[in-house]
Amino acid sequence: MSSSMESVSLQNIAPGQHAAVRKAHGDMSGNWKTHLTTPRATLLETSHLKKSYHRGQVEIQVLNDVNLQIKENDWTSIVGQSGSGKSTLLHLLGTLDAPDQGAIHFEGNRIDDLPSRSRDILRNRHFGMIFQFYHLLPELNTLENVLTPLMISSGVLSYWLQKRHYTDRAKALLEHVGLGHRMKHLPRELSGGEMQRAAIARSLIAEPRVLLADEPTGNLDRKTGDDILEILRTLNRRENLTIVMVTHDDAVAGQADRIVRLAEGRVQEIT
Ligand code: ADP
Ligand code: MG
Repeated sequence: MSSSMESVSLQNIAPGQHAAVRKAHGDMSGNWKTHLTTPRATLLETSHLKKSYHRGQVEIQVLNDVNLQIKENDWTSIVGQSGSGKSTLLHLLGTLDAPDQGAIHFEGNRIDDLPSRSRDILRNRHFGMIFQFYHLLPELNTLENVLTPLMISSGVLSYWLQKRHYTDRAKALLEHVGLGHRMKHLPRELSGGEMQRAAIARSLIAEPRVLLADEPTGNLDRKTGDDILEILRTLNRRENLTIVMVTHDDAVAGQADRIVRLAEGRVQEIT
């Protein structure tokens, strides 16, 4: 873990939702009594989710009856073999795709059947996402990549009016993930671990309520992967960020507070 990760707190960067959550539930150094006595809200909930794909005449049933509750401030791992439907489930949670049957609620509101424009807005405002292959835009530098969600969601005029403020926030986030010295680098000039740090900073720029992570260490060596997991741990513990992470790797899954296994289209609680 870099020293910048230790010294810079998101508290200074993204006071909106994070501070509100901290106030309601206490933090690591704060009021444990409050933390323990306040029932935590369910942030995301799936009920009886089904999803299949069709290849010609063949139907591939991927999710059969997925019932899952994600509580605020939790770090949940969903572990399962390759092909078990982890990415499919994460895409449904993030409204990138819609289920065939069942429902998904976010803060009590149904989200799986929203029109696509509303889903885009919801996703931009409330969901941060990171992926195994980072999905950075190759022609933009690190700082510009981190700013892209705000460029998309703000509109041109609003973005330019707030550019200084947004840029300061993006720089602080990059410092936070230990990438302050790589702001002007293009993705091809970064290591895998650095690209994932940039992707994490990008996922946080709009102050999301939940981070959805699809095999975030899947393309990294063990040590680099551990550094990324440490960043996620810090975000969860210190900033109370809710995280849902899918992985095929039991050791990676074991880093979370709660592990569920996805197999044969259903989830089963492990811890
Ligand atoms: P995981 O992320 O756990 O490896 P996925 O959710 O990517 O699994 O895929 C689950 C199953 O669905 C796999 O058998 C995969 O081949 C199939 N699948 C995924 N996406 C599609 C698609 N767009 N069309 C057809 N089959 C798909
Ligand atoms: Mg996958």
